[in-house]
Order: sequence, then structure tokens, then C-alpha cells
Amino acid sequence: MNAASGARLVFDFADGDRTQADLLGGKGANLAEMTRLGLPVPPGFTVSTEACRHYLARGTEPAELREQVTAALRRLEDTLGRRLGDVEDPLLVSVRSGAKVSMPGMMDTILNVGLNDHSVKGLAAAARDERFAWDSYRRLIQMFGRTVLGVRAELFDDELAAAKARAAVATDVELPVAALRELVESFNQIVVTQSGREFPQDPREQLDLAIRAVFDSWNTERARIYRRRERIPHDLGTAVNVCAMVFGNLGQTSGTGVAFTRDPATGRPGVYGDYLPNAQGEDVVAGIRNTESLDDLAGRDPRAHAELTRIMRLLETHYRDLCDIEFTIERGTLWMLQTRIGQRTAAAAFRIAAHLIDEEVITLDEALTRVTGHQLAQLMFPQFDAGTPATPITTGMAASPGAVVGEVVFDSAAAVARAAAGAQVLLCRRETSPDDLEGMIAAAGVLTSRGGKTSHAAVVARGMGRACVCGAEEIDIDAPERVLRVGDLVVAEGDILSIDGTTGEVFAGARPVVPSPVATYLEQGLDIALKGLDADAADLVRSVDRLLRHADGSRRLTVRANADTAEDAAHARRLGAQGVGLCRTEHMFLGERRVLIERLVLADSAEARSAALAELLPLQRADFVALLTAMDGLPTTIRLLDAPLHEFLPDRTELAIRVAVTEATGGSADPQDARLLGAVQRRHESNPMLGLRGVRLALVVPGLFAMQVRAIAEAAAARIAAGGRPRVEIMVPLVASVMELHLVRDEIDAIIAEVAERAGVSLRIPIGTMIELPRAALTADRIAEAAEFFSFGTNDLTQTTWGFSRDDVEAAIFVAYLAQGVFAVSPFESLDREGVGALVRMAAAAGRRTRPGLTLGVCGEHGGDPESVHFFHEAGLDYVSCSPYRIPVARLEAGRAALAADPGGATA
Ligand code: PEP
Ligand code: MG
Repeated sequence: MNAASGARLVFDFADGDRTQADLLGGKGANLAEMTRLGLPVPPGFTVSTEACRHYLARGTEPAELREQVTAALRRLEDTLGRRLGDVEDPLLVSVRSGAKVSMPGMMDTILNVGLNDHSVKGLAAAARDERFAWDSYRRLIQMFGRTVLGVRAELFDDELAAAKARAAVATDVELPVAALRELVESFNQIVVTQSGREFPQDPREQLDLAIRAVFDSWNTERARIYRRRERIPHDLGTAVNVCAMVFGNLGQTSGTGVAFTRDPATGRPGVYGDYLPNAQGEDVVAGIRNTESLDDLAGRDPRAHAELTRIMRLLETHYRDLCDIEFTIERGTLWMLQTRIGQRTAAAAFRIAAHLIDEEVITLDEALTRVTGHQLAQLMFPQFDAGTPATPITTGMAASPGAVVGEVVFDSAAAVARAAAGAQVLLCRRETSPDDLEGMIAAAGVLTSRGGKTSHAAVVARGMGRACVCGAEEIDIDAPERVLRVGDLVVAEGDILSIDGTTGEVFAGARPVVPSPVATYLEQGLDIALKGLDADAADLVRSVDRLLRHADGSRRLTVRANADTAEDAAHARRLGAQGVGLCRTEHMFLGERRVLIERLVLADSAEARSAALAELLPLQRADFVALLTAMDGLPTTIRLLDAPLHEFLPDRTELAIRVAVTEATGGSADPQDARLLGAVQRRHESNPMLGLRGVRLALVVPGLFAMQVRAIAEAAAARIAAGGRPRVEIMVPLVASVMELHLVRDEIDAIIAEVAERAGVSLRIPIGTMIELPRAALTADRIAEAAEFFSFGTNDLTQTTWGFSRDDVEAAIFVAYLAQGVFAVSPFESLDREGVGALVRMAAAAGRRTRPGLTLGVCGEHGGDPESVHFFHEAGLDYVSCSPYRIPVARLEAGRAALAADPGGATA
């Protein structure tokens, strides 16, 4: 819609509801919802995301915005009987950002808008508290200076620290009025010298500039980084919430806090929260002072605490999920400032989903929509070995789980640099701010000495799946000196610490890590995994088991493994693989067997070639017998050799040097070397990935595929003779034309028939092909004439569709492409639905037109990627095949995909 066409851009809280997050942002929609529920929300209004998009696109606010803000402001003033910035009893407002998707710490908030040199006196009189009024005013100049006028935050922080030092007090609440008045003056001075303009005294100008600053904050560097990481589109824009101020800094009967309806770190039932008496807004999240618990609040103010508890229960029932909230108590009266579905750790996600089923709040199907494959993958991370106990040097708060051994760094830049050099780093900060985001992404773990479980460090680390210990107060972090101290212990940058985000413990040096209970469960089953676990861990394992079993019962896709050896296959089978979707046979020709390939390449007669192949045959047969034994009864797709032959030959340059050096020193080169060099030179290719590989080998190097097929058929016959149930399938790689497939099939069929006859068994071996070239996808109807199954090789299909060399581009091009938003994630990691996906859909449909029962699978890396699994379900594939360790993730996501596609239809 065109915002300049008279659209409504401003909505009172009383006018919206939670379904309008697109227009009102998440925060605005939920404020409206709480207002609708009759909860104590201070009145206010929301400027829509549409107004923001207009501003971002054109650089000016929509023409009617000013008028609509005026109207909303008047309604607000009339409701409260006060005027914005009034000299006697001023209305003050907060201005806060709120995008559709929550972006913790990314956007800016300005409190106390409406204060100026006159209204500060009115506020002091109305509140009968001069200290409070001047504290509020200095906060406004500080926040406004930073976010609207672009003044560096440290300038204000340093001035505040100096004021505290002069007054000989430890915290800002102890600053006397005179000191606060002086601060206002010096803050004003900072604003003038840094921004070249006075702090605006006109309340309405403050409001308009603040709204614009929120719009602008959508495009700050850190917001863009966050969105790229979280795959949030850049064109959503943010809403702006303007809300009547209530004050948590009106003395000891006031305060502000954040709370969760359940523990977001462990998932334990029971409310969890941090409260700061006599504080305002961001103080809690910023981790500036250490907080109290909700139990402490119950002691201070039982009435407000009881009301808060009642509201939290109501919200959780209403939203049917863990909610996080922000609240303020103003002289004993509770106000709700925000609620939303709360972020949580992976463990908490599984436990809370399972608990909500038991509490009959959600169904099993819904529970499965509340957990993700990414979270399951996190739970499979190793933990510290309880068998080698260690004494922590200190314990902070368990903010985000995971066991991390890392090299200590003290700022974001060092974290990025050391991580780029391959180190596993632990970012140690007093507290983190959005400026630390890049360092947090680069680090394996985060350690802070200040702040609670709802501090910036904790919230962001949880969101990113980084281990985090926060508020470890005994640690003195001296970033300028690049050391931290715990008692007598001094840890310098580069030293190693270990942190446990599940317990909050910090250890000197490196501790050994062991598999997690969830990994043990996935490998060895529930009974073994549950042995010796504490109640929390056991509850987690049971929750994972319950949801994974439900996913298995709901999914249509089967899950196979990419496994080249019997050991890998057996491992995959333990993890729930229902077959092998890709056995890459090239790995079977490395090591000692390389010489046999050399011999094959050098063979100058049919006899010599046959002799080399005859030596390979029994080795290959033994490989396949072992594989088919491990996968007995399950489909096992063996792919014929795909790699260019030169990969098995010595390096061209090394060989050339060896020959040249021998000749230059008067000797004559080893004849074998000389012949090899000739062969290597003949086979040299500029683009081997587009050269003599896959099915092309079968047509150019006679006998190689035939040997492999014979080995497969003989292995199957041997397994049948031994009483097994082999279900082998043969797959031909890199086919582009049905002719190629016809030609190799003729040979394959003949060999299978011959082996079956000789062994006196019946061999039913389906023969199919990879679809990994655009031409194969485009002519899939023809190819299906000769193929009994298709397996999409999305690695090569991505490479050839984009024209990206898969071994080169990730380093050379993708950094720039990701930064500039050409794509939000590498197309080799998560399937490019628009391009490669279109080819997959087209080929699937065309293949099935020719052969209605055609089995369709995928064996590229995308088979284990959560988002891609959903695509393959939607595209109607029969199975995904992925690395063994990703099988549980694929199982879970395949179940989630089935439910997403058919909600309610797949209930077990
Ligand atoms: C593919 O191309 O997707 C595939 C599985 O084959 P490879 O990665 O071995 O080329
Ligand atoms: Mg391939």
C-alpha cells in the first residue's frame, strides 16, 4: 500500500491485537493484546511498520504521519489529563522500537521524552521527588544524545563514573540531587560539542526526532548483522511504540524487572526473573547493577508480586507458551511494559514443549512445532567429563548451556581475529552490548562478570546457541590491561579457560569433554542414556525421546544415511537411518589401493587392464559384503565411481620435478615414473569437476564400472547365500542424457543376470541415477525411461546451476555475497528453493510422469539441513539422505515438515 494515500499509520494500543505483528511489530501487537486482556498497560500508541518502510524507501516520513501522531498524542493526553512536557505536571513518554521479529538489543529505546529545563521542575513537584526528576532528565539527555544525535556512549558513561567518584558513591542511585543537576549540565555540554546542536527543549521535537531515530536504527550495522544471521528480511522495517512513562526509579517502593513464566535456560517449571529496585528501563537488561530475584520481590512487596504472578500465569495460558515480560512497579503499582513468546535454550525448548503437553496446554503435534532440528543439533554437543572432576575458580549464572574450552579474548575485534586464525575463543567482558555482536558470533562461548540471566550477553548467547556464563562477580575483567583476575589468579589474553553454561562454572585450563546425554540416548537408546542422570538431564532426554518418536510417527519422508563404510553405516543405523542413500565408492580406492588404479590407468593392453581390474574385484566385493551386512534388510544405494581418475594418481608437479631432477643429475628416470607422468599429463584437466568423471568414465575407460557392478552383484549373492536380506541399489552419477544411462544400463543388466545365473539366486537390483546436472533435470522425463529411481545430487546441481565451483567459491565469493545480501545463507548449505529447487520440482514431476512409481530421494548435503528437509517434503520426495550425525535432525524436521504441510492430518 502507498503510505501517502491516506493510510492509517498510527494505532492506539486499545485498537490492535496480537495477530497484527506485521503492521504493529511484535512489541506493539503484544502491548495491544495485553491492553485487550485488561492488564495494566500504560496507554500509548504504535507507529506502524508501514510508516517506517515509507521512511526507509524515501528518506522522509509519510506526509500524514505528523498529523496522525498529533491526534494520537492528544487522545493520550486526554486519557491521562496531562500534557506532553507540561511545566506543571508533565506527561512523559517512552519511544521504543519493535519489529515483527524480536531482535534483542538491536534497536534503540528512549525514555522520559518530554523533559526539558522547565518540565523537570514540574516533574519534581508532581512526584515530590527532586532527585528522581533530575535523574530522569539526565537519562533522557544520555539516551537521546546517543541514539538520536549519535554521541558516543562512553562520553556519558565516563562523566557518570566521574560524578560517582566525586560524590564518593558506588551506584548511580546514591548520587545526590546536586550531582545530578551538574550531570545534566555536563551532558548538555557533551551534546553541544559532539553533535554541534543543543539538546532540543521542545517536547514535540524530541518525540519526532526519537521516532525518526528508531526508523534509522533499523539500518544500523549491528541490526543488519543480526538480521543476516537470523535470516530476517531487510525490508520489514520496524514499528515505533510511544507509551506513557511509568517510573521504576521513584525510590525503594519502585523498580523494574524482566521475568519468564518458566526458566528459559533449563526449562524447569516455575517463574523466573530479575528485579532491580529503584531503577529504570534498560538498567536490568544492561546488567549495570546486579539484580534481585522474584522471591526477593515477594519479600519487598507481596501485593505487587502476587499480582505479577497472577498475570504471568494468565499470559502463559493465553499465549500457550513460555512468555517473557518486562514490568515496572511505580510506588507499589504494577505496570506491564512488554510481553512476547520468550527465547529459550535448546534444552528448555524440548522440556517446555513436553511439559505443556502434560499440562494439557498444547497437543503433541503442536509440541513438535515448538522444537527445531537446530536445537536438537545443539543438544548433541559434548559436555565436560564428570569423571574428571575439577574445582571451579568461580561460578556465575548458567545463562546458556554448552561446555566450551577457549582462548580468552577481551573484545570483539580480538575474538573475530583469533577465530579467523582458527582458535576457539572465549569472549570475556564485564557486560556485553550490541557492539559486541560480531565477537559473540565468532566466539565459542561468552563469559561476563556483570548482569543476570536476562542481560544482553545471556539473551543473545541463548539466541545464537553459544555457551554463556554471566554475572560471575568474583571475576575482575580488566580489558584495557588485557587480563582478568579471580582472587590471586591472573588470566591473560590467550590463556585457556573452560566454561560450563549449564552450571555457570568457570575452570582454569582445558577440561576434557564427553558426549551429551542426548547424544548417548540417540546412539544407545533411552534405558542406557537414563542411567545415572540427574533429574533435569533425565527429563530432557525423556522430552527429546517423546518428541522424536512423535516426529517418526508423523513423517512421510524416510531418512537414509550417506555412508561409505560398514562402520559409518552401522553408526547411522543406530541413529535411526532407514537405509543408505549414498555410498561413495571413490573412497574405496585410496590408500594402498591407489596403486591398483595407477596400474589400470597405465595399462596399455586389454589384458593388462583386465589384470588390474581383477585385483580390484575381490577388494570391492569385500567392501560391499561388509556394507550390506551392516544394512541388512534396508535399502543400500551404491554409487559407481564418480571422481576423475587423476585424483588417484600422483601430483603432476611433484612427479614432473622428480623426473626432471633425476634426469638433470645425469640419471635416467624410473620408467614407472616416466610412464605415470605421461599418463598424468594426458589426463590433466583444467576443470576436472566438469571433466572426465561420473558416467563419462564408464564410457571412456572400459571395464571399471563393470568391475564395480560385478562386485556389487556378487556381494549381494553372497549375502543371500549367507541368509541375509541384501537390498542393494546401483546408482549412476553425473548423467546428463538418457543415452548415457541406456548405454551403461545394458552392461549393468547383463552382468547382474550373469552373476545371478552363476550363483543360482534371483537378484533384484534397482538401477537409478543421480540428478545433479541441469540437463538431467530438464530431460528427466526421458531419463526416467532408463532409471528406476532418482537421487538428487544437490551439491553438483547447485554447483552447475549457479556455475559456482563448489571447492572455491565459499572462500572467494560468499563472504562478499552474504555481506551484500545476494543470499542470506550459502546455497550449498541450505537449498536455493527458487533456482535449484525449481529444477528439483520440475524433474520430480517429469520423472513421475514417465514412471509413476519412481522413487525420489536426495543425497546432497542439503538432505540434513532443516530448512531444505521441509522443501524436499513439499516437493514430494520419498527420502532424504545425509551424514550419520545429522540423521536425528533430519528425522525431527521431516516430522515437523509433515505437520506443517498438513496440520492436524498427521496426528498419531
Ligand atoms: C551431489 O553432487 O550432491 C552428491 C551427493 O555427489 P558428490 O557430493 O559426491 O559430488
Ligand atoms: Mg555429485
